[in-house]
Amino acid sequence: MKKLLVANRGEIALRIFKAAREMGIKTVAVYSDADKAAPHTRAADEAYHIGKSPPPLSYLNIPVLMQAVAATGADAVHPGYGFLSENAAFARAVEERGITWVGPSSSVIRDMESKSFCRGLGRRLGVPVTPGSIGKVESAGEIERLFAEHGPPLLIKLDKGGGGKGIQPIHHIEEIERLLTSSTGMGQVAFGSSEVYVEKRIGSPKHIEIQCLGDHYGNFVALGERECSVQRRFQKVVEEAPSPAVTPEERERLCSWSVRLLKEMGYRNAGTVEFIRSPQGEYYFMEVNARIQVEHPVTEMVTGIDLVRQQLRIAMGEPLGLRGDDIAIAGHAIEARIYAEDPSTFLPSPGTIDRIDFPALSRETRLDHALETGLTVSPFYDPMLAKLIVWAEDRPSAIVRLDHALGQFVIVGVKTTIPLGSAVLASETFRQGLFHTDSLADLLEALPLAR
Ligand code: ADP
Ligand code: ADP
Ligand code: MG
Repeated sequence: MKKLLVANRGEIALRIFKAAREMGIKTVAVYSDADKAAPHTRAADEAYHIGKSPPPLSYLNIPVLMQAVAATGADAVHPGYGFLSENAAFARAVEERGITWVGPSSSVIRDMESKSFCRGLGRRLGVPVTPGSIGKVESAGEIERLFAEHGPPLLIKLDKGGGGKGIQPIHHIEEIERLLTSSTGMGQVAFGSSEVYVEKRIGSPKHIEIQCLGDHYGNFVALGERECSVQRRFQKVVEEAPSPAVTPEERERLCSWSVRLLKEMGYRNAGTVEFIRSPQGEYYFMEVNARIQVEHPVTEMVTGIDLVRQQLRIAMGEPLGLRGDDIAIAGHAIEARIYAEDPSTFLPSPGTIDRIDFPALSRETRLDHALETGLTVSPFYDPMLAKLIVWAEDRPSAIVRLDHALGQFVIVGVKTTIPLGSAVLASETFRQGLFHTDSLADLLEALPLAR
């Protein structure tokens, strides 16, 4: 790998450039009209303009991205997260050009894109999945039968969804028809697929996921879990590693399930296996994320392993230099995602950043961002501005450290979720490690955030 094109923008593009640069690999940025002067555009060795600001005309435009590959002579593509990162057609186009895709093969991505496929695989391998439909559901009648069998609440989910989009609870039999219509419509618009399936909604669950790496030779390693139970609208806001709820026995079981699933799929590169955990400690496999994840830094902080560097090494065909015994989880890491959003309504807050006071950074306090004064936060893209990550010897100290850093962090010009992060850290539920995926909504109700 000599020249890596990153088909993404913002903080993750900068993160990947950094790893590439440290490995002596040249970098290529792609940019839309809105990103002409963006930090990621300036940070690479070369930058290639890929079109207008709306994502379908630039960051989601496969033919134009392939033109960028050809024009710059890039011999590898890293898709980051979001955008085309789990798009089998893009991975296939890169493979067909005979260059390196930093991720699993296009055929594996195609399989995993379908959550029904994942559920079927889980069942086959003896990994528990939530009760519900085995495959996709086609009609309201089918959902009514599942409703009668499992009882409310159910969740209707997009078979090829992501980012929490299109997930809707079903409480009453009368709303099935309407929710089915709206989910299929949403799926068509957001993902070009109207397929849905139905599962039992687990009450007050925690979201627990296992970070894995696999090479081209069938070697796998699991790097422990992250807990991502602080969610709004099924999207993560604060993540940590390790989870305060997962026992060593549970960790071992989850890691072995995860490796079993990925092995069976013929998976390679970095991947995350997501589970939900019921308050009784039952785990259910949900899906595999076939990409680097937003919250990967918390795992890096507790393992000391650079996951993006591992991704690049694996993509180059190097055998995994790590074994299970090499993975030691030390201390505790927490990440707060900072979005340009109103912290209580989560409405996007685009605008121009007039001033930034950065928190003091150190080995223990890391900020992944693509921010600068004068930057325009564009309404076209995901509003995540930055990720503030801390490490400490133990969880209480990590909470104190993150709270302190959030307190120092000031962004003027757009509203941000900084106060939300502080409110989560201050909550007794979070401090006790009892947060579940509905806790944030409860917290916000009890404590409306001014600002
Ligand atoms: P992770 O599972 O990596 O924590 P998310 O599920 O929040 O991350 O999604 C990763 C990023 O990709 C987020 O910025 C999210 O908004 C974005 N994203 C997810 N799915 C889509 C999609 N289909 N289209 C556009 N952006 C998406
Ligand atoms: P996506 O691809 O959009 O990330 P997931 O299947 O990973 O979809 O679900 C996203 C989130 O929705 C989970 O993190 C969890 O909070 C919630 N969720 C999903 N399935 C269930 C379920 N059966 N019961 C309760 N919560 C669920
Ligand atoms: Mg998910």
